[in-house]
Amino acid sequence: MNSAHNESGRFPSHEHDHRHCVASALDDAKAVCSERGARLTPVRRRVLEIIWQSHRPLGAYAILDVLSGEGHSPAPPTVYRALEFLLMHGLVHRLSSLNAFIGCARPGHPGAGQFLLCIACGTAAELNDAAIERAIERSAAAEGFTSQVHTVEISGICPHCREAPNAGAH
Ligand SMILES: [Zn+2]
Ligand SMILES: [Zn+2]
Repeated sequence: MNSAHNESGRFPSHEHDHRHCVASALDDAKAVCSERGARLTPVRRRVLEIIWQSHRPLGAYAILDVLSGEGHSPAPPTVYRALEFLLMHGLVHRLSSLNAFIGCARPGHPGAGQFLLCIACGTAAELNDAAIERAIERSAAAEGFTSQVHTVEISGICPHCREAPNAGAH
């Protein structure tokens, strides 16, 4: 967590060496799958790679577009099933406000997490703040409500876009 590419907290700089993120995401995915006896088939692996090609959430149709551009023309259900698999094993998260998917840097963690979404560059960063989780559970329980999924999505401006307002425009 303290490596140089992560010097600005949870928002990677726009110039960070992204190959490292993709490689470590694939290593994590392989470890999670072998631990659980799940199979990271070529299409599941490729969908995960495509999602990790940036830190911007990606919709299912954008993923299909990339696959088609590569000469594969998978049927949409193939991509949906791959996404279901990745969700089920905690390798990606679904952001409902964007109807898009983002890779999880800590696959298999409990709780749904909180996401900071930059409206300028589209980057998403995941928080796993236990205090927020507890506060939600406490407030829900006070209403007699048993919460199951509590993903919190917060939109705003990331530190890199705040410093360089045009950096996220490309
Ligand atoms: Zn996560
Ligand atoms: Zn930004």
